[in-house]
Amino acid sequence: ALKAGIVGLPNVGKSTLFNAITQAGAESANYPFCTIDPNVGVVEVPDERLDKLTELVQPNKTVPTAFEFVDIAGLVRGASKGEGLGNKFLAHIREVDAIVHVVRCFVDENVTHVDGKVNPVSDIQTINLELILADLESLEKRIERSRKNIKGGDKKYAQEVEVLERIKEALYEDKPARSVELTDDERLIVRDLHLLTLKPVLYAANVGEDEVATADENPYVQQVREFAVAENAEVVPISAKVEAEIAELEGEDKAMFLEELGLQESGLNRLIKAAYRLLGLYTYFTAGVQEVRAWTIRKGTKAPGAAGVIHTDFERGFIRAEVVAYADLLAAGSMNGAKERGQLRLEGKEYLVQDGDVMHFRFNV
Ligand code: GDP
Repeated sequence: ALKAGIVGLPNVGKSTLFNAITQAGAESANYPFCTIDPNVGVVEVPDERLDKLTELVQPNKTVPTAFEFVDIAGLVRGASKGEGLGNKFLAHIREVDAIVHVVRCFVDENVTHVDGKVNPVSDIQTINLELILADLESLEKRIERSRKNIKGGDKKYAQEVEVLERIKEALYEDKPARSVELTDDERLIVRDLHLLTLKPVLYAANVGEDEVATADENPYVQQVREFAVAENAEVVPISAKVEAEIAELEGEDKAMFLEELGLQESGLNRLIKAAYRLLGLYTYFTAGVQEVRAWTIRKGTKAPGAAGVIHTDFERGFIRAEVVAYADLLAAGSMNGAKERGQLRLEGKEYLVQDGDVMHFRFNV
């Protein structure tokens, strides 16, 4: 499953947010493939389309698609030099697909700030510096090795060194690797370095509990936004403390509490959706009377790969898929309706699955 790692300096609200995530928790019986680990929280991805499909099909059961958040506590100044539990935490970050960087935008004298005052941009830079230093180390090792290979007469490493040097230069200017424009070929070259600063990032700006409805007026949030624009990163204002309270409520109570707060939806939902977008993920649906369900794939997945998300046997024995676009199905009102309108297609192995496809797979067992 795809994972986003939660990072940030101590005392910014990571555990509070992570607790809200596990509290809101997905029904684990539905997700036997997910990691069982106290530092991993499984969340369901909210999707209006799934609700509409449920109304249409009236299945026995509806299952949203899920997504994992990993709590990567313990990242402190000096981590890249082995401070705190340093390198161990950096290794955890290497394994995630995206980073949710929690920054403190709330003021509370009772909560100590590691640097003595609230300054989210400086906090971001502190963490980024550790990630940059760790990446520099990986880059330098690789550049040295590639140079040796060139000396040994292997010219194909010349391009590699050029790309790595370009990224190194950016890092020296305090810019993350993701700010460097790379071609697909160049991406392949650097892929196995698992650079930390190449991973997509979103900033979760943790505001005080009395500011949730007006978070954008918070000057700290504005500073984070300005910083993020330059980095091409997204910002989600959230109050970890309020999220922890919301996560304890359900149904009507939850709706009422959100209304009282002046919110359309929980910050957690916004965070999940933003992380999903950040990872470039698509959702496709299966819609039978037994179960209506959403599944996650990466953009660019072909039909057999999408089938494989359900079960490896579906991928191995894939014959073809019956596909109807969500909007067409909804407009037609039923599968049969869509069929009569000629909107139910048969697609083969090369079909690139689209976001919102409703699919039925045919396969050999
Ligand atoms: P972590 O070290 O980043 O995991 O931070 P914690 O989640 O443990 O939070 C540190 C302290 O800040 C705890 O006492 C939290 O209750 C408090 N805290 C977190 N979010 C907020 C907030 O929005 N407002 C206030 N006043 N306190 C918060």
